[in-house]
Amino acid sequence: MTDKTAIITGAARGIGLATARLLSQRGWRVVLADIDADELQRVVLGWEDALAVTCDVSDPDQVQAMVARTVEWSGRLDALVNNAGVADFRPMGETDLATWRRIMAVNLDGVFLCSQAAIPHLARTGGAIVNIASISGLRASTLRVAYGTSKAAVIHLTRQQAAELGQQGIRANCVAPGPVDTKLALAVHSPVIRAAYHDSIPLNRYGEEGEIAQAIAFLCSDQASYVTGQVLAVDGGFEATGVGLPALRLGN
Ligand code: NAD
Repeated sequence: MTDKTAIITGAARGIGLATARLLSQRGWRVVLADIDADELQRVVLGWEDALAVTCDVSDPDQVQAMVARTVEWSGRLDALVNNAGVADFRPMGETDLATWRRIMAVNLDGVFLCSQAAIPHLARTGGAIVNIASISGLRASTLRVAYGTSKAAVIHLTRQQAAELGQQGIRANCVAPGPVDTKLALAVHSPVIRAAYHDSIPLNRYGEEGEIAQAIAFLCSDQASYVTGQVLAVDGGFEATGVGLPALRLGN
């Protein structure tokens, strides 16, 4: 057992919840931060060494309060997993400014704000930041002007963090998940998109929340003590393949 403490944002469900569960199984104290207060309370019921904090990651005051509450509860902070995110798929012409700003506020400002609030505490423990981007930040696609751009920015922000925070002993890395069956994906992946994904992913399936959590937990851990500034695509091989045309796969 260890008294190491991690904050996981967007932890009321999906990849964030799977990450909190895995870190908890490995002896970490976990702080689950999410905007969805009801769901948060439900998932932490009876969970020892877990703290639920309602927080909108795009609100600077709420973020400061969430990090302060964490340190009050645990006395330390060893890892920050910036996982909270929202998706919106629509053509550029239909992406109004309010939508663009909402996606950027949660997906990008949220990572910036949570990291900034956590850095003094992470510097004391030689801690780690793990940002959750997406394959949509690595490769451009239709319908994702806001989402894809926000995730590409998260990838670059990770490198900025690694460059600047190394001197303080803080590592910063990024996980870029491929498609995973969560509420987020179910909302934006139509049956046609789902079928197409299956054709362009070498492992030929969606990922599971727990598979993404394994990569995140590795990057939080001392096993990754010399890894910083990296982007790890956990995507069944999607990022590695350029011409994965369904026709080629069928041997035509
Ligand atoms: P999800 O919708 O199941 O979970 C996201 C969580 O974030 C929810 O609990 C939600 O309440 C919370 N949240 C949303 N806005 C918030 C805010 N402003 N402040 C705090 N919490 C907020 O989604 P998921 O699929 O588990 O996504 C987790 C991360 O993984 C996201 O950053 C997403 O972009 C990324 N991702 C997901 C997929 C996928 O296919 N599911 C693929 C690539 C990347």
